[in-house]
Amino acid sequence: MKLHEYQSKQYFAKYGIPIPKGRIAATSSEAKQIAEELGGRTVIKAQVLVGGRGKAGGIRLAKHPAEVEELATQILAMKIKGLPVRKVLVDEAANIDKEIYLGITNDRAARRPVMMASAAGGVDIEEVAKESPEKIIKVHIDPLLGLRDYQARDIAAGIDLPRDYWRTFGKIAKGLWQVYNRSDATLAEINPLVITSDKRLLAVDGKMVLDDNALFRHPDLSEMRDLDVEAPSEIEARKYGLSFIKLDGNIGCMVNGAGLAMTTMDIIKLFGGEPANFLDIGGGASSEKVAAAIRIILNDPNVKAVLFNIFGGITRGDEVARGVLTALDEVKSDIPMVIRLVGTNAEEGRQILADANMVTAESLADAAEKAVAMAAA
Ligand code: GDP
Ligand code: MN
Repeated sequence: MKLHEYQSKQYFAKYGIPIPKGRIAATSSEAKQIAEELGGRTVIKAQVLVGGRGKAGGIRLAKHPAEVEELATQILAMKIKGLPVRKVLVDEAANIDKEIYLGITNDRAARRPVMMASAAGGVDIEEVAKESPEKIIKVHIDPLLGLRDYQARDIAAGIDLPRDYWRTFGKIAKGLWQVYNRSDATLAEINPLVITSDKRLLAVDGKMVLDDNALFRHPDLSEMRDLDVEAPSEIEARKYGLSFIKLDGNIGCMVNGAGLAMTTMDIIKLFGGEPANFLDIGGGASSEKVAAAIRIILNDPNVKAVLFNIFGGITRGDEVARGVLTALDEVKSDIPMVIRLVGTNAEEGRQILADANMVTAESLADAAEKAVAMAAA
């Protein structure tokens, strides 16, 4: 789950990271009012969950509050990379002398979080990473010890930050580590962290990506989720506790178990097909959950065939079979389907399905072959 810039920065502020004064607005008149309260120069910023807003025209500076209404109207009418702008952040504008990059993410290869910093921060950091990776300083963080003072100093020295800023920079770097650690983030990023003309460090932009699997520990953060930007099918799936990821193929998959779901997608590919989704209904799924899963799969207009692959451990075969029939009663689809069902109560399950004239398969390979043929027909 991604947080918006304004949400990320508010969270940063809790951990002592300095951010500009500002507020969020949903209309241009609100934006104008905020600008009047702030007085002076302001920056109006599109709140969409994609990068490169500046280059897309979603970040505009206003010299006077009088300009803000017009600029906010323009930005609120924009779509950036396909996403409609529903809110703008109105911040006091910073006079920027220098833009620094500072971020933390997980380095899977090193099995540790890594803090990255660069003196070449701002909108072109991706270019820097590609063209001159030596300009990005990396320091791995021991998750039990956290970011140490000497590491923050190493980073400050590595990006040639003038000594006067080291103390404040150290606080910001440690604050960012706390942000990352406390929120179970997979990314916490300030780009740019700026040096202002009056010699302050300020987090002008903020980005956070949270680990969905840890959200249950953070009710305050999970309620910030912006449903506007998610595929409706994924929102529906979450409601029923299903792990669902939409893909581009035409064979819908309903599987219990994440590993089995991966295997199912692999074997579909092996037989020349393309999965339309990843879907793990989890262990011990009720017929209600199965029904929801089928509705979600069949809602995708690309789906030309459906493969059910159920291994009954905790999940009972008869329960799954009844769920399938309940759902099909409700959805009424003529999309062909094939079911491979083994394990607990598989016998009863298969009987229920056979009575309803559904295609069953002996093995996973058999099921995949049938599904690929059905989708191609
Ligand atoms: P992004 O394009 O989505 O990364 O949005 P940012 O918030 O990072 O803004 C993009 C760029 O706009 C920054 O790198 C700055 O150069 C500029 N910018 C953002 N806020 C301010 C500000 O308060 N004052 C000035 N002068 N420039 C700003
Ligand atoms: Mn940015």
